[in-house]
Amino acid sequence: MQLTRLIYCSKLCPLSTGSIEKILESSRRYNTSNAITGILLFNGTFFLQCLEGGRIAVNETYCRILHDDRHIESVLLSYETIDRREFGDWAMGYVAWTKDLRPIIRAYSITDEFSPYQLSGSSALGLLRELSTKVASC
Ligand code: FAD
Repeated sequence: MQLTRLIYCSKLCPLSTGSIEKILESSRRYNTSNAITGILLFNGTFFLQCLEGGRIAVNETYCRILHDDRHIESVLLSYETIDRREFGDWAMGYVAWTKDLRPIIRAYSITDEFSPYQLSGSSALGLLRELSTKVASC
């Protein structure tokens, strides 16, 4: 079973009644049973998420996520086999949005607005790696 990392971004569905807490709760429950770890950034509009784990588990999880109508316009930014996990400490680490993140965002973006659709796969990974020091809880 190949260890795999997948990074995607998406946008909150304007009609969604779900909350980030509910998303995190089910993500952590499912990810723990599927040996998936990762990190999620949400700024109130956009999601940027990394999933790491076995190839089949990562594919099946992303497939469920794609069909989730709480978000829209999902774009795959990176998919690769890896030698080790970057975010192995969290069933789904959550980075809550604060203005203190802007300098980190700016380092990976054209402006300090968070616009994940403009990130390359390697920029997305670099950004999430830096943001992992800000993970609130897991
Ligand atoms: P069910 O729980 O049966 O849900 C079916 C559908 O009902 C969902 O697709 C959704 O459209 C809707 N729904 C479910 N719960 C709610 C709710 N509380 N409020 C409103 N609508 C709801 N799952 C993971 O396993 N791992 C992850 O890392 C992960 N990350 C996610 C990140 C984001 C940004 C989003 C939006 C979802 C994420 N999920 C994750 C949740 C995933 O999409 C599935 O809901 C979950 O995996 C359970 O799958 P299921 O087929 O049992 O769906």
